[in-house]
Amino acid sequence: MDSILQKDKRCYVCGAQEGLHRHHIFCGTGRRWQSETHGFVVYLCAAHHNGSEYGVHFNKALDLKLRRDCQKKFEETHTRDEFMRLIGRNYLGKNANMG
Ligand SMILES: [Zn+2]
Ligand SMILES: [Zn+2]
Repeated sequence: MDSILQKDKRCYVCGAQEGLHRHHIFCGTGRRWQSETHGFVVYLCAAHHNGSEYGVHFNKALDLKLRRDCQKKFEETHTRDEFMRLIGRNYLGKNANMG
C-alpha cells in the first residue's frame, strides 16, 4: 500500500524528488508488517533518511514527528484503540507513551 501521509513521491521533509528511499515509520518498533499493510510509510531523500545525522534514523525529533503525523492521519479514519492495537503505543496527547 502507498503512504497515507503523501500522494506525491517526494521527500516528506524537503520535497526532493531524486534519490528517494521508502521509510517504514514504525520500523524501530518491530511493526514493519503493519507499516506496510496500513501505508505507514513515507518517501525520504537519502539525507533525510539515513545519510546524515539529521536523517530520521538518527534524529529522534524527526522520527517522533513522523510517528505523530502518521497517527494523526490514521485517526482521521480510525479510532485510537485501533492504532494502539496495531502499533502498541500512543504518540499523541497528554497520555502519550514515548518509551
Ligand atoms: Zn529530504
Ligand atoms: Zn528507514
